[in-house]
Amino acid sequence: MLIQPAERIEKLPRYLFAEIDRKIRIALDKGVDVIRLGIGDPDKATPCYIVSRAMTEVQMPSNHTYPPDAGLPEFKQAVASYYKKRHNVELDPEREVAVLLGSKEGIAHISACFVNPGDVNLVPDPGYPVYGIGTMFAGGEVYRMPLLEENFFLPDLAAIDQSVADRAKLMFLNYPNNPTGAVASPEFFAKVVEFANRHNVIVCHDQAYSEIAYDGCKPISFLEVPGGKDVCIEFGSLSKTFNMTGWRIGYAVGRAEVVEVLSRYKTNIDSGTFKAIQYAGMEALTNPEMASFQEKMSAIYQERRDVAVSMLTGMGIAVCVPKAAFYVWAKVPADFASSTEFVSHILEETGVVITPGRGFGEYGEGYFRIALTVDVPRMQEAMERISRVLKK
Ligand SMILES: *Cc1c(COP(=O)(O)O)cnc(C)c1O
Repeated sequence: MLIQPAERIEKLPRYLFAEIDRKIRIALDKGVDVIRLGIGDPDKATPCYIVSRAMTEVQMPSNHTYPPDAGLPEFKQAVASYYKKRHNVELDPEREVAVLLGSKEGIAHISACFVNPGDVNLVPDPGYPVYGIGTMFAGGEVYRMPLLEENFFLPDLAAIDQSVADRAKLMFLNYPNNPTGAVASPEFFAKVVEFANRHNVIVCHDQAYSEIAYDGCKPISFLEVPGGKDVCIEFGSLSKTFNMTGWRIGYAVGRAEVVEVLSRYKTNIDSGTFKAIQYAGMEALTNPEMASFQEKMSAIYQERRDVAVSMLTGMGIAVCVPKAAFYVWAKVPADFASSTEFVSHILEETGVVITPGRGFGEYGEGYFRIALTVDVPRMQEAMERISRVLKK
C-alpha cells in the first residue's frame, strides 16, 4: 500500500528546528557541552503556589471526568478578573472567554473557523510560524506584512495592497513580539482598529509574552484601545509568563461571536483541558503572589538580556534591544552569506545553539535570535565562545 500524505502535509515547511536538532545530536554525540539558546522554553520551574494547587486538584475524583465543553467557569472567571485588574477591560466570562490547550492550538485553528479557500490572511514576517501554517491548512493564502527595523517592527498598514486588504479575513499580530522583542503602542493599535473596520478583517492578537517586559514597560492588550474588542480575538498563554509550557493551557478573549465560533469548532475536535490544570491556571492568574512573581521573572530575564546585549555589542554585532519577551534579535555579521550559514557555523564551532532569522520568514533573513532561557554565567560562557570564534 502506498502512503500518500495530503497536499497540506506535503506543503509543510521542513520544521525550523529539525536541521538544528540533527546538528545538536551530532555535537552531543561528540561530547560537546551544548548551550541551548534556540527554543523559547523557560528554564525555571512553575511557581510552587500553582504546583500545589494542581496536586490538590489532581487528587479529586470529580476532576477526573471530561471537563465542561465551554471550559471551566472558574478558570474563565479568573481570566476575566485578570483582564479587569491588569488591563481595565471588562469581559463576560461566559461569552467572551474560551479555554485552549495552549494558545498555539487556538492560533492554529482560528483560520479553519473563518477562512474559505482563496481567502487571504495578513501575517507578520518575521513571525511565529503557526499563523501561516494555520492559514495554509484552511486553504487560505498568506500575505506577508514585513516587520522592518525602521518601522520599529510594526507592519506598515498603508503598504498593504487595497485588493488584498479587501479579500483579507484575518490579520495576525503579536506584541510583545517574538522574535524581535518589539512592543506596540496604543496609537498603532488604534490604526489597526480603523483598518479592521474599513476592510472587515478580524484581528488575531497573540499576547503570549504580555507579562515579560523590561525597563518598566507594561505591554498593553489590544482590547484596551477604543473599539478593540469589537474587531479582535486575543490569544493569551500561561506558558511563558508562568513557566508552564508543558501544562498546555491558554485562552482566547474578545469579540463574543468570534470566541463562540472557535469554541464551537473545538467542541468537535478536542474535549477540553484537564480540570485540574484549569484550576491550576485559575490559581496562576488570581493568586496574590502573581504580581511579585512576574516582576521577579522580568528582572531575571532583564539581567540576562543586559549581559547578552552588551557582549554582542562588544563583538561589533548590531542588536535590537528588546523591550519585552525573552529574546534578543540581532544582525548576522556581514561576512556570513545567510542566517542559516551563521547559525550552523556557530553551532559547529562553539556548541551554542541559536535560531536563524530565516526560520521566521523571508524578512527574518540577515538576523538571528537568542533565547534568554539560561542563567547569567551560562549566557556569559555562550557569548565568550561566540566572541572567540568571530575573532578567528
Ligand atoms: C510560545 C508562543 C506561543 C504558544 O504558546 P502556548 O500557549 O504554549 O501554545 C504563541 N505565540 C508565540 C509568539 C509564542 O512564542
